Amino acid sequence: MVLSLDLRRYRNIVVLTGAGISVASGVRPFRGPNGVWNEWDIERCATRTALEQSPQSVWQAFGPLRSQLQTTQPNAAHRALARFEQSLGKHQRFTLITQNIDGLHQLAGSRNLVEFHGSLRQSRCSDEQCDQPSFVDQRAHIQTLPLCPTCGKPLRPDIVLFEEAIPAWAETQAKRSLRECDFFLAVGTSGTVFPAAAFARTAQMLGARTMLVNLEPHAADDLAFEEQQIGRAEELLPTLLGVA
Ligand SMILES: [Zn+2]
Repeated sequence: MVLSLDLRRYRNIVVLTGAGISVASGVRPFRGPNGVWNEWDIERCATRTALEQSPQSVWQAFGPLRSQLQTTQPNAAHRALARFEQSLGKHQRFTLITQNIDGLHQLAGSRNLVEFHGSLRQSRCSDEQCDQPSFVDQRAHIQTLPLCPTCGKPLRPDIVLFEEAIPAWAETQAKRSLRECDFFLAVGTSGTVFPAAAFARTAQMLGARTMLVNLEPHAADDLAFEEQQIGRAEELLPTLLGVA
């Protein structure tokens, strides 16, 4: 039986989510047995080099995923995190860091959200120097290369590709929240993806209580999680967070 956690005594709660939280929404994970990366040629369509050499190939890969997102809805786990954030007291701070690019936390109503790998629901200019801000974009751009309305260079999905760094603001936000964190919860992540996998260790080193909610237990030699709840996030989280 899952018991509700009493989280009122924590002042800085940080939650990290990975692909596992979106499976119940029908979003295919990138890694693992059924992962997107098994079918794609990463080098040809998901790297900085690919973007520079053939921006259309990036859209050909991510465009269909973006189309699917148009009909994808947040599930009970996303909604539980948003409700939980809204239920916190004024003395409590909450930061939600996600490795996912599906935008479902935002749709569910989460506010203090760090999309660590960007959002596939947004596009931006491929020229880092361009003034065009990132904007919400539903179009898949599979057939025709979209161009920046400001400078005319190719647009790109507003996500972090391989060979690219995490955006500085996202990294800063994440680090700041972890420094002050006293309760750290990771949901739906195998803990193999860096740098996010290091978050639990950092939080633990700084004295936070650490917990994992995932379908599979963490690796035996990974002691960063003091507690774990094994199961589906959409079933466990509403009760755990006391918002069922
Ligand atoms: Zn531009």
